[in-house]
Amino acid sequence: MQFNQIIGHAALKARLIGNIREGRVPHAQFFLGPRGSGVLPLALAYATYLFCGQRGEGDSCGECNACKMMAKLAHPDLNMAFPIFLSKEVKTCEPFVADWREAVLGEPYLDAERWRECLKGDNKQLRMGVDIAAEVVRKLSLKSFSGGWKVMLIWLPEMMDPAMANKILKVLEEPEPGTAFLLAGHANDRILPTILSRTQLVKVAAPDPGEVAAAVQLRHPEMAAGEARAIAARSEGDLLAAQAMAEGRPEKTFHFFRDWLRACFAGKMEEVAVHTDEFAKMGREEQKGVMEYALFMMRQCMLQWQDLPQLVTVSGEELDFVRKFSALLGAENLAGIRTELEAAHGHLGRNANSKILFIDLSGTLGQLLRPKAVQAR
Ligand SMILES: [Zn+2]
Repeated sequence: MQFNQIIGHAALKARLIGNIREGRVPHAQFFLGPRGSGVLPLALAYATYLFCGQRGEGDSCGECNACKMMAKLAHPDLNMAFPIFLSKEVKTCEPFVADWREAVLGEPYLDAERWRECLKGDNKQLRMGVDIAAEVVRKLSLKSFSGGWKVMLIWLPEMMDPAMANKILKVLEEPEPGTAFLLAGHANDRILPTILSRTQLVKVAAPDPGEVAAAVQLRHPEMAAGEARAIAARSEGDLLAAQAMAEGRPEKTFHFFRDWLRACFAGKMEEVAVHTDEFAKMGREEQKGVMEYALFMMRQCMLQWQDLPQLVTVSGEELDFVRKFSALLGAENLAGIRTELEAAHGHLGRNANSKILFIDLSGTLGQLLRPKAVQAR
């Protein structure tokens, strides 16, 4: 991955490159930004530039041995740690390095949900445990293969168990000279303060809508510019979500969400039960994705309800839904619905029982939605 393959982030790229050129390479940096913002591609481009034998002023050369190996994520001094499904038998990343490479090469904006799909993990929770910490410490005790920099990339550090975090603190604080830790993740509030305080923060902002639209069109040259812009506006700066929309993935989520809310509103418990079963079968990240989508659609409904239809970015079936559904909303239930969805999203992140959570949520949403409808009649 080279900097020129990453859309947007011009100022940040220039700063990162400048730092390396001036010999200012922090021992630990944390690329932190929202999902789909490019924290992982940026960390990889940074590592490529660090390893490159013929650095240009604005990017790695792309032609030297180091660059060629980095293009396959196979540079021997690139070490990585990432979340896996920990079990009695499997405790380290080593057996999954080839899968991880393939996943990242296929989608450099990879997120936990897609990684879970690659590992075929159904409902299991991705984690990094204490044995991965031992793996990190061991790898960093080895000499650099190429005689230059050694990089330890930790992807999604928010999924570290406290035991792992504690075990890497010392090496994170004072690694051997010539070692660069690159952490790349999304959730600030779930990272232990001890980790945050030992790393230099590299804040990665979400790309702006114009950049997202350009990225979508790059992968889908057949798409009309207007459609790409509409997708970009809807993605709220999440490039991965934008790509998924361009590939038609969200349709499934929309239909699930729409039919579920209708069942909640109508109080049809048998239908809610069917949706509950379907929800329980989804992976944890997919479940969180449903809640994120629901929150997005609530914001859309709110704009419609506030008589700001020019700010509503959805179209087609989704727009029909927003127009009809916003009639059920009012000051008395909007805040409550959002609070419930946000709380559900948070509980899912803390491994709540998804079935119980979804049934409770369905009941509460039904109650919140109905009073307005009664008044309206
Ligand atoms: Zn090079």
